[in-house]
Amino acid sequence: MAAKDFYQVLGVSDSASQAEIKKAYRRLAKQHHPDANPGNAAAAERFKELSEAHTVLSDADKRKHYDQMRRLGAFDGGGQARGPRQGAGARPGGPRGSGSAPGVDGMEFGDFGGLGDIFSSIFGRGARPEETRAEAMETVVEVPFRVATLGGKVPVTLQVTEPCPTCAGSGGAPGATWSTCPECDGRGTISFGQGGFAVSRPCPLCRGRQRIPSEPCPTCRGAGGIRTERQVVITVPSATETGTRVRIRGQGQTTRAGAPPGDLVVTFQVQPDRFFRREGLDIVCEVPLNLAQAALGTRLRVRTLDGKKVMLRIPAGTQPGRKFRIKGQGVEKSGVRGDQLVQIQVTVPEQLTSEQQDMLKQFAESAGLTY
Ligand SMILES: [Zn+2]
Ligand SMILES: [Zn+2]
Repeated sequence: MAAKDFYQVLGVSDSASQAEIKKAYRRLAKQHHPDANPGNAAAAERFKELSEAHTVLSDADKRKHYDQMRRLGAFDGGGQARGPRQGAGARPGGPRGSGSAPGVDGMEFGDFGGLGDIFSSIFGRGARPEETRAEAMETVVEVPFRVATLGGKVPVTLQVTEPCPTCAGSGGAPGATWSTCPECDGRGTISFGQGGFAVSRPCPLCRGRQRIPSEPCPTCRGAGGIRTERQVVITVPSATETGTRVRIRGQGQTTRAGAPPGDLVVTFQVQPDRFFRREGLDIVCEVPLNLAQAALGTRLRVRTLDGKKVMLRIPAGTQPGRKFRIKGQGVEKSGVRGDQLVQIQVTVPEQLTSEQQDMLKQFAESAGLTY
């Protein structure tokens, strides 16, 4: 259960006030924001850690639970944790207090992936109905560049486990007799110690069912579930990047009949585009001009992400590498939309006839160019 220590991630002491935590998060998040570090995987990872740490430590209730776990040594660095001191701004309890285990609030943790599972495996299972859900199902979804950038929907075929129709998920053959599982003595879970406290896992023999059948179900061979395909349509938020994760409630698998389905955690992978690429909130494309267009000026019709074409006036004497800005045709995020940058390339004719060579030499001489 080695997770990063959230206080270390934010660079604050474990007695930091809410204001100190917020300040540290703002400063670091700004520095490591993916938009400020396009294409930098390390920064993206750091940003994710910061978000996770902030999500937990900025919520008095989640922080309290986290501190408890940390003192038990569940996280890296937890061994050095000192007494139960709490920041001045941290209110014990709070509006979300009653009975809600951290990490099972859906989207909040889901956005940052994994953490919900860490929490739900540490805090006892079975305290809330959600905790009988199947574990979150992870999948990677490839998204075309345009959909990732502007937002949209992608259809996805998932390989999921559904309750077996023959045994309704029980794993026993029709008519089988049941006896108490000898492996777990009918508890359904096996405990093992780790870092000073015990973690429970479903019993491998009865698969958590507490009982075993005299004869396993012939359809699912006792597993209780069968593999099947399901079509889902995933909503892709605008400004999605490779590595962006979303958690979709109840779109995962159902492992036990009657139990609610688990969540689906989608990690997006953005397919590169042949024409466009992203730089923060801007969209960059390269457009080749020939010598005459660059030297004499021209008008260009440039494709935008929306699929429309915008007329761009290129002045005479435009140099290779120069960028022209088309306002408001970039990526939209939190109500802000970037621009499209058109970067000019200049192509040089590969072959000239001897007549053309003579004309070019003549030109060079009149312009005082050496060759
Ligand atoms: Zn068992
Ligand atoms: Zn079955």
